[in-house]
Amino acid sequence: MKKREIVVVGAGIAGLTSAAILSKLGFSVTIIESHYQSGGCAGTFKRQKYIFDVGATQVAGLEVEGIHRKIFDFLEIPVPDASILDPACVVDLNDGSRAIHIWYEEESWIKERDLQFPGSQKFWQLCAFIHKSNWKFANNNPVMPIRNLWDFSQLVKALTPINFLSGLLIKSSMFDLLKLCGCHKDKRLIKFLNLQLKLYSQEDIYNTAALYGSTVLHMGQHPRGLFHLQHSMQALSNALEDSLKQTEAEIVFGQKVQSIKFDNLKKYWKVSASSNKKTNEYLTKEIVYTLPPQSLLQHLDENSETIKQYKSQIKSLPKPNGALVLYSAIERKKINQFTANHYQFSHQELGSLFISISNNGDGRAPLGQVTLIASIFTQTNDWIDLDKSSYLKKKEEFLLKISKAIEIQFAISSDDWLHRELATPLGFQRWTNRPNGIVGGLGQNPKIFGLFGIASRTPMQGLWLCGDSIYPGEGTAGVSQSALMVSRQIASANGLNNFTI
Ligand SMILES: Cc1cc2nc3c(=O)[nH]c(=O)nc-3n(C[C@H](O)[C@H](O)[C@H](O)COP(=O)(O)OP(=O)(O)OC[C@H]3O[C@@H](n4cnc5c(N)ncnc54)[C@H](O)[C@@H]3O)c2cc1C
Repeated sequence: MKKREIVVVGAGIAGLTSAAILSKLGFSVTIIESHYQSGGCAGTFKRQKYIFDVGATQVAGLEVEGIHRKIFDFLEIPVPDASILDPACVVDLNDGSRAIHIWYEEESWIKERDLQFPGSQKFWQLCAFIHKSNWKFANNNPVMPIRNLWDFSQLVKALTPINFLSGLLIKSSMFDLLKLCGCHKDKRLIKFLNLQLKLYSQEDIYNTAALYGSTVLHMGQHPRGLFHLQHSMQALSNALEDSLKQTEAEIVFGQKVQSIKFDNLKKYWKVSASSNKKTNEYLTKEIVYTLPPQSLLQHLDENSETIKQYKSQIKSLPKPNGALVLYSAIERKKINQFTANHYQFSHQELGSLFISISNNGDGRAPLGQVTLIASIFTQTNDWIDLDKSSYLKKKEEFLLKISKAIEIQFAISSDDWLHRELATPLGFQRWTNRPNGIVGGLGQNPKIFGLFGIASRTPMQGLWLCGDSIYPGEGTAGVSQSALMVSRQIASANGLNNFTI
């Protein structure tokens, strides 16, 4: 049995980041990871000559003042090599008009918007105002939702006068903003927003919180921006692992946490984790739990009234999405007319397809070839309950459907594929151990966004949550922000009151 000050469950970006910060602050930290490698949804896998990014393919927060960069600077480790995405994405509504190019330079993006969506200036200006306000707020490291006086003091400290104005929109949706600006009948703009918002908030304009949606619509522009990592997404996790080595934190791979239980006698949490060979137990004062909160239903091994109530709160959360992801490879010359790394297009049957193409020679495919990853959302129940033969049949059907959609969109032939395979929610469940293969955290609708979401500080002392279901939400940048928040809470609970970066 091992005694550690802090046990972090999961070595995805949330777990690695919180562990690296806490370890740098001097806590003794052990991370328990069920997989043989780190990264989780932002990891990679190797297949033949190719390296595929499992989930995340683009990164926000690497710019000056970006959350990844601030944390890397604090950890004193170099930021991985990355190039800015310009355009961040090319969105084809497949309505016969020119595809929308989301340019990095603000002026070019404003010109594009004005051309593509005449009469929408007010809407974009309002979004820009909200985004500016959000950015100031987020940079001041608020704690949300608040659960005690310290959290409240951090929230108050983070507020600036501009936040009181944008705060009036706390319960508004993106559709409310469109209405306010007289753009709510612009079908083309709505189609575009629905495609983009679904990617980042898992919701449409009617159900995306205005305060969240306004910011994600500005992620691709200077001075923020989205980045393409050289080599692979694993570079992010590798860098964090380097920091953990420097501070002598321990990562235990191949150990799946089975239960966490508070030992009332010893006043310690007991974390039980097993590999094929044996079960290990870890005693700890604090647990940073980075799995989706839904996993706690299985892992929280106790039946006190508090835990029962907490579990029923988790059970009532809206159902998150799953993903179907096609991992493929193709010769670069077959798609030479396409120069952006990311495309999104609307498809009558499949909805939104998001495409990520690697750079020639960036380490993901042999020279002259590129990896092409396409993802769509799906309901996990459509896959999880199938018998084996129906599952395999459906999987093959969707592999062909998604391939066909890409062949038509990019004018390529079905003979051009050098590699193709499809991941379903079952695959994500196996790879990440997320229940039923749910991905991307909770939808960011006004009812559960920010102040109204799940708190990192749980009702059980010493059990902390972070990851993509916790404020501010999904994405490697989002979970890093939540990792910083939880680290600050733990630091403060242990007498390190003024820690910030
Ligand atoms: C298809 C797809 C595309 C995406 N695209 C982007 C993108 O382009 N950009 C972006 O920023 N984000 C993207 N995201 C979202 C982003 O990948 C996630 O929000 C983020 O990586 C989540 O990190 P996390 O650490 O919270 O969770 P995870 O990555 O899920 O990490 C949790 C870790 O815990 C481990 N674990 C699980 N159960 C146990 C257990 N019982 N015991 C021990 N360990 C356990 C898992 O193996 C995993 O390593 C995408 C996600 C998907 C699925």
